Parts: sequence; C-alpha cells; structure tokens
Amino acid sequence: MAQERSGIVMVGSANMDIVFTVERIPQPGETLLAESVATYPGGKGLNQAVAAARAGAPTTFVGSLGRDEHGGELAVTMTDAGIDRTLVRSSAAPTGQAFIVVADSAENTIIVASGANAEVTALTEPERAAIASASVLLMQLELPIGVVTEAAQVAKSAGTTVMLNAAPARELPDELISAVDCLIVNEHEACLIGGSDDLAEASARLAARVDRLIVTLGSDGSALYEGGVELARVPARRVDAVDTTGAGDTYCGAFAAAIAEGRDLESSAAFATAAAALSVQALGAVPSIPGRDRIEAMLA
Ligand code: ATP
Repeated sequence: MAQERSGIVMVGSANMDIVFTVERIPQPGETLLAESVATYPGGKGLNQAVAAARAGAPTTFVGSLGRDEHGGELAVTMTDAGIDRTLVRSSAAPTGQAFIVVADSAENTIIVASGANAEVTALTEPERAAIASASVLLMQLELPIGVVTEAAQVAKSAGTTVMLNAAPARELPDELISAVDCLIVNEHEACLIGGSDDLAEASARLAARVDRLIVTLGSDGSALYEGGVELARVPARRVDAVDTTGAGDTYCGAFAAAIAEGRDLESSAAFATAAAALSVQALGAVPSIPGRDRIEAMLA
C-alpha cells in the first residue's frame, strides 16, 4: 500500500550574504572604502525553504552549516521560519558565504565561498528516508551535482515529485534531468541550458526533456509547459517593485508548497506569482518573503 506522504524536503544551500555597498566596483589591485556593510541570510536553498514554509508547507532542510557564528544565525533563520532542521549537518568547514559588492549604479559582483555546502557530497540514510516520504523534493544547483542527482534518483524511485530550479545555470547531466518532474528556470537559464539564444526555441527544447517546465519571465510573469507544449502564460501581478532580489526563490518555494498540497499546475503558478509579487514590494530576500495569509489575501 502506498505510504502517506507529505511536505517538502529541500536539499540545498544556505549562505550568509555579506553585502558591501560602494560608489563603484573596484578595479583589480584597487582598495575602496565601503559606504556600508550588512549581512543577510541567503543561498537559494535557504531562501526557497523559507518561502515554502511561510507559504504553509511542512518543510525539512537537508544541507550543511558550519560551526561558526554565521551557522548559528542561519539556524535561527530556519527555526523562525518553522523549517525542520533536524537533518541539517554541522560541518567543520565554514558556513557558506556570498560576498556581494553593490555599486551606486546597482551593478554588482558576487563571490561565493561554498564552505559547508560543498561538504554535502552524498546522502545519509535518514536523508534518503525523508526524501522518500515527502510529497516534493525541491533543489537548486548550489550543492555538488552528484548529491543533487542522487537525491533526484531517490525521490523518483520513491514516487516523490522532483522539482529542480536549475540555478545557477549549468549543463544538466542526463541522469539528473531524467529524474526531474518539474524544471523551473528564468529566461537566462532557459537559454543557457536549452542551448539557444532564442528563448522560444530553448524553452521548447527543455520542455521536451521534462514532464513540466516553468520559465519565469520577470515582470512578464511565467510560461508553463506540460508534455512538451506550452500550456499557459501566467502574467505577473502589477505592483510597485522595490527590490526584485529573491523573486525567483519566492516563486519556487511557494510553487512547491502549492504542488505539495495537491493543487494543479496553473493554480500553483498563480499562487507562486502572488507570493513573488508580494516579495518584490519590500527590500531583501528573506525579509520580503510573504506568509500564507498575505498570499491568500492577494488571490482572494
Ligand atoms: P531573482 O534572481 O531576482 O530572484 P529570477 O530571475 O530567478 O529572480 P524572475 O523571472 O525575475 O526570477 O521572477 C520570478 C517571478 O517573480 C516572475 O515569474 C514574476 O511572477 C515575479 N516577478 C518578478 N519581477 C516582478 C515584478 N517587477 N513585478 C511583479 N512580479 C514580479
């Protein structure tokens, strides 16, 4: 008899983002004084797990934090969002960090030190069991590709829906993509992975490789593909955007939450679109991710 499954397992990254604001991006060899520096919880895995949990899904995080101050702060972020972190590993490596330099022109440069995230190279038995009993496995490409592939295969053979946000973009090995039920990419990732500068052509190629494909299109909304054909376009909500950082992560987390509770593709995309529209109306990634009440209110 089929086992009752519920919730989301996130196999993903958690970073501390260290954001320096400067007048301009420094030249090689140059030292600049920053206008300000601040730290924010980040990493696509953590952002999307927070989005899923705030959208109402029981969410379990599989990943790794260092035994340092940043690791402690990210653990608090998880707990505050209601994420189950009993499977989060404690690593001797430093917690992942992203050094982000933002110029007054809004141009930025980013260096990521994966640290503890890079230590997640294979799954433990309890992690495999959690994936096998979840409704949805949600992942990105910030952990080693081997563990992403392993998790997808465990989920696939257990009947857990496999959702992959293929970011940052890279070529997807056949053994990974063949285990993916739903692929989510933005325009840039679609073109890069689909192997064409023409978005329609790249999307069609990707749509032929997975059951379901979502291409997010920024303020133009998202395109949904099923069975290789375009099913629908979901327009973005018209809102005054203040900061679009994390819009894609909010979309992915909320979408996974909606699928995990049994909604269909279009209504899940509408739910995710509302969540993302709320997230662009406030500053920061994690702080701007809305809770379920606000998403429901926007949809009402
Ligand atoms: P990011 O890297 O900034 O997190 P992304 O490139 O992964 O984002 P986008 O395609 O920019 O993802 O946005 C994801 C979704 O967020 C879109 O499909 C749309 O529904 C919503 N969105 C993005 N920008 C806006 C906006 N300006 N107004 C309303 N909704 C938006």
